[in-house]
Amino acid sequence: MLRGQVAVVTGSTSGIGLAIATAMAKEGAAVVINGFGDSAEIEAIRTSMQREYGVSVSYVPADLSTAEGCAELIHQASSRHGNVDILVNNAGIQYLAPIEQFPAERWNAIIALNLSAVFHCTAAVLPLMKQARHGRIINISSTHGLVASVHKAAYVAAKHGVIGLTKVTALETAGQGITCNAICPGWTKTPLSEKQIDDYALKIGRDRTEVAREMLAEKQPSEQYVLPEQLGAAAVFLASPAAAQMTGTQMAMDGGWTAR
Ligand code: NAD
Repeated sequence: MLRGQVAVVTGSTSGIGLAIATAMAKEGAAVVINGFGDSAEIEAIRTSMQREYGVSVSYVPADLSTAEGCAELIHQASSRHGNVDILVNNAGIQYLAPIEQFPAERWNAIIALNLSAVFHCTAAVLPLMKQARHGRIINISSTHGLVASVHKAAYVAAKHGVIGLTKVTALETAGQGITCNAICPGWTKTPLSEKQIDDYALKIGRDRTEVAREMLAEKQPSEQYVLPEQLGAAAVFLASPAAAQMTGTQMAMDGGWTAR
């Protein structure tokens, strides 16, 4: 479905981003992966994706917490692959603390990556998409872009900001062959969410499996995790011709969390 297109997926060395990059490659898109991690492991991901799906896959290790890093990612992607058709703004981090104890440095880091990087990558890619009169921007927000939870001030603020930015991007590109939508996942099993459960179980000194079950049940009526592969399929749909008239929306995939 995406043969001949070039997809840049930020934060795709792990978790949801890796599943989205894999789903795009499976549909025939050339893929640019980005993020941190062990260089041998990242190279193994890159080469196996390339071999398995017969597409070109490159890795750009840009740090997206700076505007320069974001511009570098888009520049490298377009110079290596000729264009960028799909941008998935996915890279994100988390930190939990009550507002009065929330370190300013963590607030700044979360806003920089989870919100400002979405702006900087979008600003860098739009001239290319406008020239091609084609583009898909998919922002990975969160259920926390729609509702709040305690102790996640920076994350919730950033993810709500991503929803607003998605709407502005959609309005500024409407009718030009470009769409911008957000996906709002609920609890998804990845290193980011697993760490939250590990930290909390350790803090309260309780069995990890029980704590994980309770944390999931508290928020997600289905009591089942969203699977990264399901988010990959949703991103492929948003990149497809079927979604050409979908823009400025938020797709919740949260097991019923926001239906309550
Ligand atoms: P993850 O920790 O598995 O992956 C995060 C990715 O971002 C990694 O590839 C990491 O290397 C990369 N990254 C971190 N800092 C970076 C930086 N400065 N520059 C470039 N890349 C950087 O996390 P995940 O759970 O897959 O989360 C992906 C996105 O999905 C995030 O935006 C997160 O907020 C969102 N999300 C996750 C869940 C969940 O339950 N896991 C739910 C809703 C939304």
